[in-house]
Amino acid sequence: MLCELVSYFDGTGPFRLLQIWLVVTSAALVFIMFSSGLVFYWLYWPSNVTYEKWRCKSNPAYPSVEKVRDEIVQMLKGLCCSTIFPSLSIYLSATGSTSPSLTQGFCGWWDFSLGYHLFSLFVVWIGSDFYEFAYHRLGHVSFPFWKHHKHHHVFYNPSPFAVIADEWIDQFVRSLPVLLIPVLMPVNLDLLFVTYAVCFYFYGVYLHSGHELDCLSAHNKYINTSFQHYCHHAKSLMNKPYHCGFFIKLWDNLFSCVYPEDKCFCAECSRSKGERSFEAYEKVHVPDYSLLFEAKTWLGKSV
Ligand SMILES: [Zn+2]
Ligand SMILES: [Zn+2]
Ligand SMILES: [Zn+2]
Repeated sequence: MLCELVSYFDGTGPFRLLQIWLVVTSAALVFIMFSSGLVFYWLYWPSNVTYEKWRCKSNPAYPSVEKVRDEIVQMLKGLCCSTIFPSLSIYLSATGSTSPSLTQGFCGWWDFSLGYHLFSLFVVWIGSDFYEFAYHRLGHVSFPFWKHHKHHHVFYNPSPFAVIADEWIDQFVRSLPVLLIPVLMPVNLDLLFVTYAVCFYFYGVYLHSGHELDCLSAHNKYINTSFQHYCHHAKSLMNKPYHCGFFIKLWDNLFSCVYPEDKCFCAECSRSKGERSFEAYEKVHVPDYSLLFEAKTWLGKSV
């Protein structure tokens, strides 16, 4: 699919790369606004907020309109940087079909068996999960990295728009595997991009949704839930790397990055302490997020 897309661009060199970047960034913007926007509308829009949803919300309060606006602004900055290496990866792979190239990315089945494609899917998914954990943890244990990463933690009560609300350098490093993996091993480009979109963006929307699922307890042993990532935003600072992992809990367990279980403040524990009564829900203020559609919200000095 991606290689076929590139064949429509007849430019050469940097101009062709720019064309690919514009298309990839536009497609990513549509995907992001559709997935994050839909989940935000479902969970945060005042007319859609219900007691049943609120009792599963990790933080009982809702973020202000200004915080959500700033998440969207930071997300758009992150988006423009996060698509540069993926665009370069597509560009090099497309060029490689006609001349020797640095990368081994390809489209279609090529000469590989189904077993190899499943193996590469596993390597991309688990290898990237560890890479993202290691880089994220570095952002909490090394001051030069924290200086950039702390901008993601401005959003201590995140919404689904916060997935890539990072500074540019963080998005560069986080998207680097999309270029690096095809350099190291032959991989189907569609499989690589879909894995990143689903496992790292779409799962990221759940992690930043602020709401816990009844079917996936925060206390399960294997998979990071939205509570672990909410806890990360709320409690993790420089030298406090709690729950830096993305999908599996293994990395946080191995590197002792787990918030003390006896201090757990997930929605499930809050409910068992009697903190999620209907009376408490009636006192909750849900901001009027329709202000996000008004120009004055975006033109203020505080943006
Ligand atoms: Zn962090
Ligand atoms: Zn986050
Ligand atoms: Zn708990």
